[in-house]
Amino acid sequence: MNIFLTVKNMQAFTQEPNSMKPDIHPKYFPDAKVICSCGDTFTTGATQQELKIEICSTCHPFFTGEQRIVDTEGRVERLRRRYNLNS
Ligand SMILES: [Zn+2]
Repeated sequence: MNIFLTVKNMQAFTQEPNSMKPDIHPKYFPDAKVICSCGDTFTTGATQQELKIEICSTCHPFFTGEQRIVDTEGRVERLRRRYNLNS
């Protein structure tokens, strides 16, 4: 019985892609432009035409293998100024 129900539900997910319920989904942009603060741009699928991001896979330390502090908002600099710390 359980197996029968699972197979039946899977059929619902493998139907035609245009079988979504109308007027409840946001507009989908299959070629949305992503702009990173490092200057890199690429396209992705999104519900907005353009996305501005602070970090991406080109500049994130995890992908670059580089050990550095990611400080796009100037927080480290502000803390140093506040406590008169010089690096
Ligand atoms: Zn980036």
